[in-house]
Amino acid sequence: MNIYNTLTRKIENFKPLNHPKVTLYTCGPTVYDFTHIGHLRTFTNNDILKRTLNYLGYQVKHVMNITDVGHLTGDDDTGEDKLEKGAKKTGKSVWEVAKFYTDFFIQSINDLNIIKPEILCKATDHIKEIIQLIQILEKKGYTYETKEAVYFDVSKFKNYGKLSRQPLSQKIQAARGEVYIDPEKKHPADFALWFKRVGRFANHTMHWDSPWEDGFPGWHIECSAMSMKYLGETIDIHAGGVDHIPVHHENEIAQSEVASNKPFVKYWFHNNFVTVEGKKMSKSLGNFYTIEDIKKKGYKPEALRLLFLQSHYRQILNFTWDSLNAAQEAYNKLKEYILILRKQNDMISFTQDKSNQIVNYREKFIQALTEDLKTPQAMAVVWQMLKSNIPSANKIDLLFEFDQVLGLQLDRTRDEEIPKDIIRLAQEREKARKEKDFKKADEIRKKIKELGYLIEDTPVSYRLKKASQQKII
Ligand code: AMP
Ligand code: ZN
Repeated sequence: MNIYNTLTRKIENFKPLNHPKVTLYTCGPTVYDFTHIGHLRTFTNNDILKRTLNYLGYQVKHVMNITDVGHLTGDDDTGEDKLEKGAKKTGKSVWEVAKFYTDFFIQSINDLNIIKPEILCKATDHIKEIIQLIQILEKKGYTYETKEAVYFDVSKFKNYGKLSRQPLSQKIQAARGEVYIDPEKKHPADFALWFKRVGRFANHTMHWDSPWEDGFPGWHIECSAMSMKYLGETIDIHAGGVDHIPVHHENEIAQSEVASNKPFVKYWFHNNFVTVEGKKMSKSLGNFYTIEDIKKKGYKPEALRLLFLQSHYRQILNFTWDSLNAAQEAYNKLKEYILILRKQNDMISFTQDKSNQIVNYREKFIQALTEDLKTPQAMAVVWQMLKSNIPSANKIDLLFEFDQVLGLQLDRTRDEEIPKDIIRLAQEREKARKEKDFKKADEIRKKIKELGYLIEDTPVSYRLKKASQQKII
């Protein structure tokens, strides 16, 4: 497996620390608003990576965090806590807000057939681990305390900026004049490990006792604490969106490597954005769609998953309804293939030559994925294979095998959405046709049409469609 590593800016051969085990950590959602399809693209690509590794025989242990405290609206410790903001907006408690959006997130990843991480852990359930980690950093002399917070002193960590390749001198203060900044903060890139419940946070709802006064953790520390707790001090792969490279992941590296004296992550896997009209899809810009919006418009979640597969994870994906429409059509076509293939029975035509072709398609599929997860190329192999002359039964087998990685739930393809009496009529018509009773066959076709379905003859059998939508769903 070759994979692009943001740390080295190179496509590298993947060698896990403890073959065949792979440790994977993904930065999860901040649960103050709806999970949108931008997040879902990142989570789907992480899922494809995990499924590919499993398909290749690795055993992946996957941890994802849920940020339910401490993520401020500004990545540089400015603004308000996103959860508190969500609570104010909805008139609910912060805990209710977190629960509601966590449930929505889980429902969304289920819809996209994303395998649930082995461990899905909340920041608020790990306050003890977070405090212990801050204490280690404090003992090592990498922190300082102000009246308002405990900060990590980035100037002491000589490798700060190694992921984003941004020297500290270039870290400009993102905050504008009107944004409140702790006057005792030494460097704009220093980041809060613990906020005290004073000043702008005097009324913060979520708070815990700590060696530095009652308060709550900063955002970045939770990922180091949970990653180290569940996966060990050095992990194989850490995944997230590209927006996390300059601040969040840089900070995770600093905290973790100071605490353990070991490299934190071997391979950094970053996903590019989903944009709408050229702008990043985001909660703050309000230009987002959720999986519910997609379903309400009559699209299947699998069509969205296929749309994601059709672009490479390191490219920006500009979302349009036209592109989703095309993906839905491609998905319908895949299912149509399955229905047709299932009715064919041509195992007899199997030859050595065709057996070589099968091996070839499998190799090409694996090659596309193991060369930096080239999902569009992997999909191209799928279509080539379906259009080839290998026996139908083998096509189905290969398709379902590939679907272990694609995750399109193709094995669930059934005629079931066509009512039973329509299927029975179609079977009767097929019988009449075979017996060359074409008058009867035509009458049944008319009857099927009156009931709202169309029947099309194929070289080997027939196909049923709902008349209104002209598609098999
Ligand atoms: P958040 O809830 O904002 O912390 O984001 C959760 C994950 O989704 C992070 O890895 C983000 O980088 C990623 N993400 C957020 N917005 C987008 C987007 N528009 N496109 C792709 N990934 C995104
Ligand atoms: Zn994180």
